[in-house]
Amino acid sequence: IVAAVALVDDITQQRQLEQQRSELLRQIESALELRNQFIATASHELKTPITLLKGYAQVLMDRSREGVLRRPLEIINRQVDRMSELINDLLDVSKIEAGKLELVLRKVELTDAVREVVMDQREAASGFEIELLAAEPVWVLGDRNRLQQVVANFISNAVKYSGNSRRVIVEVRRDGPEVEVSVTDYGIGIPEDQQPEVFGLYFRGRNVSPRHYSGLGLGLYICRNIVERHGGRIGMSSREGEGSRFWFRLPASGPESLPQET
Ligand code: ADP
Repeated sequence: IVAAVALVDDITQQRQLEQQRSELLRQIESALELRNQFIATASHELKTPITLLKGYAQVLMDRSREGVLRRPLEIINRQVDRMSELINDLLDVSKIEAGKLELVLRKVELTDAVREVVMDQREAASGFEIELLAAEPVWVLGDRNRLQQVVANFISNAVKYSGNSRRVIVEVRRDGPEVEVSVTDYGIGIPEDQQPEVFGLYFRGRNVSPRHYSGLGLGLYICRNIVERHGGRIGMSSREGEGSRFWFRLPASGPESLPQET
């Protein structure tokens, strides 16, 4: 009898625990849902004023090519760009979390797409030597803008976390059935024990003090999602104090038999 009572007690306790557990999971889920909704609404609301500010800042810049206003206007313009990048990243995160990040797949010549990004980034990072190693055209089936976003993110990180180095190497190459794009820097690197978390949401390295390096830790998370949605792989290797190499790989396709890139 004692054993039977203990067993019934046990079962009741187990049921209660299970109920508590599923209640907790439900609460976590609805908190996450609320957080996502908040991020989506807030970034959407911020987008309109930022777009307006950007327009007016540009008009003012164009009208005051010289004079005392030139420098402050340049600063306003740059900071508005930064804000707008952050807002776009937040919007992307909310799309990813809601499973609504859409890709427009076309035949893309990746060497050319990467070259465009390298040119833009060279302009943005004066004093840096951003080298492009790309011997041949390579084709993939992908979303050109989204793939360019990944490369731009890799390069801007390489520049941002460059430490004392001023050198960044970008490489596009065909490797058997795959195409690999990589960005190598000789900067501050990432602590070894943190490397498995690098592509997680909100990740920031412990060697990156928020006072010196601004950022939210969204970029690499977005990159991972973009690459994985393409059926590709993303990865990195790094040594703290020596530098990092970020790469992604996609299945290669021939230039034939695919819908034309627009
Ligand atoms: P953010 O740069 O805004 O923090 P990211 O998602 O692009 O967001 O990067 C996340 C973190 O990964 C950075 O804060 C930094 O700690 C680390 N990181 C990314 N790229 C590099 C790099 N090239 N060298 C060193 N650390 C890097």
